Amino acid sequence: VRLDSALVSLSKTHVVLIMAAVSLTSEEHEVTRIERIGAHSHIRGLGLTDELTPKPSAQGMVGQIKARRAAGVVHNMVKEGKLAGQAVLIAGQPGTGKTAIANGLAQSLGPDTPFTAVSASEIYSLGMSKTEVLTQAFRRSIGVRIKEETEIIEGEVVEVQIDRPATGTGAKVGKLTLKTTEMETIYDLGNKLIEALTKEKVQAGDVITIDKATGKITKLGRSFTRARDYDATGPQTRFVQCPEGELQKRKEVVHTVTLHEIDVINNRTQGFMALFSGDTGEIKGEVRQQINAKVAEWREEGKAELVPGVLFIDEVHMLDIECFSFINRALEDDMAPVVIVATNRGITRIRGTRNLSPHGIPIDMLDRMIIIKTTPYQEKEIKEILKIRCEEEDCEIQDDALVVLTKIGLETSLRYAIQLITLANLAAMKRKEKQIAIVDVKKVYQLFIDEQRSQKFLKEYEDEFMFDEGTETAMETN
Ligand code: ATP
Repeated sequence: VRLDSALVSLSKTHVVLIMAAVSLTSEEHEVTRIERIGAHSHIRGLGLTDELTPKPSAQGMVGQIKARRAAGVVHNMVKEGKLAGQAVLIAGQPGTGKTAIANGLAQSLGPDTPFTAVSASEIYSLGMSKTEVLTQAFRRSIGVRIKEETEIIEGEVVEVQIDRPATGTGAKVGKLTLKTTEMETIYDLGNKLIEALTKEKVQAGDVITIDKATGKITKLGRSFTRARDYDATGPQTRFVQCPEGELQKRKEVVHTVTLHEIDVINNRTQGFMALFSGDTGEIKGEVRQQINAKVAEWREEGKAELVPGVLFIDEVHMLDIECFSFINRALEDDMAPVVIVATNRGITRIRGTRNLSPHGIPIDMLDRMIIIKTTPYQEKEIKEILKIRCEEEDCEIQDDALVVLTKIGLETSLRYAIQLITLANLAAMKRKEKQIAIVDVKKVYQLFIDEQRSQKFLKEYEDEFMFDEGTETAMETN
């Protein structure tokens, strides 16, 4: 989709390159998933029915009914393109599934809706300005669905003629005489088509289709009526009735790329290879303006449509006042995605100011957000989540050990209990047992302390630590 010089047109090679780059990156994700089980790898969706009713436990999601239902409404509105330019805040205590819900939403939206997840601290990169990182994140979350019409010509080959001109370049030229019902047409052939014809061993009497956009040639069989006139190919040949009637078919090919991918392809300083390395550098404002104008033109001509996706910013309290002001403005653009942010902070300082504000988000920004709240889990839900995690991590656990682990989760944190699973499994393996038993849980609980015990320990021995600043006010998370 390079916007080269004056001739600004869709280049299929570039679309293919983008697709290759995109599929390469997703392949990379696949590999990571096999090697390492991520914190949310058990989440496969939001676990809702078609009527958006949350099932108590489905697609790896447990409880948090109201928040999941709200996320379901957001899902439908994103799909219908109704929420573009809106912001959603998911707020709740640590470990109550905010990131899990965002992940579930991404999964349920599917691969055709762009979903970008960043942590607010990624904005502070050394190589790029904050606004550039944010702009790239915004443009990664907007898809452009490009429609192309391609013609498929079907007909019977009258003659294939391939010449090798004496230029020494190895280039071949040729002609193909194809008979459709309308007429006999002579096509001048380029190298690519000649290769395809040679590969398919196309000869007179064959009935073939040519995809005009890709140059792909498909052999359908031999003409029933005329094949014998050309050669006797024997009984192994499949004869088809030589088609009569209108033989040109129109087919629509759709590619979805993101605005950011189009930016990168057209960025002269780095070029499309940056899609592989991820090292895009800053992209000039003029390049983006040109692309926006071109995309607007394509939309008007009906060649392309925008697919507003989702930009998810976790730990949003890490953004500073400048970032919030940038986002406020960016949301007003007609090519804005849905911005979902999450935080576990209560009333806290807005970064870059002395002011306190709910969640560390400026009031004017909060005012334009719809808020989804997550609440702490009940014992039964923690147990179910831990059970799902055991399955995900391929660990077998005895019932009573699961009960003990659940109690630990309730008294410390769900995250801590989840982390103990792998460790307890290692302890069980050391005992040459397949299943995690209470002894294993107990052992790792004593070996690795949780946040509360760590604090208690620090309080007891605070004088013995260097640089103790324990008198400073604690972090506000209520
Ligand atoms: P923080 O505020 O600390 O970032 P969070 O609210 O984003 O926390 P998560 O990271 O989503 O919490 O949850 C902690 C762990 O528990 C993750 O592994 C997550 O997948 C899992 N989890 C949380 N809630 C659910 C749920 N409702 N169903 C299944 N798994 C869950």
